Amino acid sequence: MQIIDGKLVSKTIREELKRKIELANSQGVSFKLTVIIVGNDPASEIYVNNKAKGCAEVGILSETVKMPESTTQAELESVISDKVNDDSVTGILVQLPLPKHLDSQSALKLIPPEKDVDGFSDGNVGKLTLFKQDALFSCTPFGMIKLLEYYNIPLCGKHAVVIGRSNIVGKPMSLMLLNKDCTVTVCHSRTPNLADFTKNADILVCAVGKKHLITADMVKDGVVVLDAGINRVDGKIYGDVDFDGVSQKASYITPVPGGVGPMTITMLLYNTYLAGINDEKRRV
Ligand code: NAP
Repeated sequence: MQIIDGKLVSKTIREELKRKIELANSQGVSFKLTVIIVGNDPASEIYVNNKAKGCAEVGILSETVKMPESTTQAELESVISDKVNDDSVTGILVQLPLPKHLDSQSALKLIPPEKDVDGFSDGNVGKLTLFKQDALFSCTPFGMIKLLEYYNIPLCGKHAVVIGRSNIVGKPMSLMLLNKDCTVTVCHSRTPNLADFTKNADILVCAVGKKHLITADMVKDGVVVLDAGINRVDGKIYGDVDFDGVSQKASYITPVPGGVGPMTITMLLYNTYLAGINDEKRRV
């Protein structure tokens, strides 16, 4: 059994990204991420700080626009529109969740697909569905695909079972695996007898948010397991997969923490770079 080391892969991608960005900078091309945060949610503030630190590490310029809890929809949309029209900004991200009085869908609609580095917009989801090369992908599933690539895990013709159908993890992951020629089964809370599906998985992706939903008796020998789940119980973090049991049967498995988690911000940095070089005005 091989542990899929997300910290190692994340570090490797960031180093490669730093080199590419330095090269682009030397040719007069720069990259800038604008993060807009509304209110004072402590968890969101930590995420936003980590994004800014990640940018600094690889040489992406960043700015955080902090708006008060009392921000109106019009004020938020005006800031987004300014950044959309600012050619120095390559990527725009609105930190979610927004305060309850704000309509996130209507705000996010203002970000054009080419600056939507979270990959959540209708445009990018549409491009992913149509298998278009210039899509910016949702960062967590994109990170999982990069983990599979790093370990040269064959995907073509494999049966991938994705548990979870959220718009940010499960659904885009199922499309990315389909795009890689897997046969894909998507399971969710209404799927009866989950084990009937998981036992047939060559590749098992868990994106649910239920500690140890998947146990050793639910998987076959040699399965490749990617666990996006983050479940905080009594101050400790657990995945959706019972790592101790399932790792006895898996050929590859991500630990939690240290597997899928470290990839998410790294892929945001990667998307910000891609957004910059996809832009005709910046192409190097
Ligand atoms: P979500 O929006 O709550 O979606 C959870 C999905 O799991 C839903 O599709 C739900 O089905 C399904 N589900 C719930 N109970 C189930 C069960 N008993 N059997 C099968 N499917 C079940 O969550 P999310 O945003 O996708 O996140 C999933 C997990 O990944 C969470 O633990 C989250 O913290 C973690 N996450 C990690 C990262 C990272 O950076 N590593 C990023 C994002 C999320 P229905 O659609 O039928 O409700």
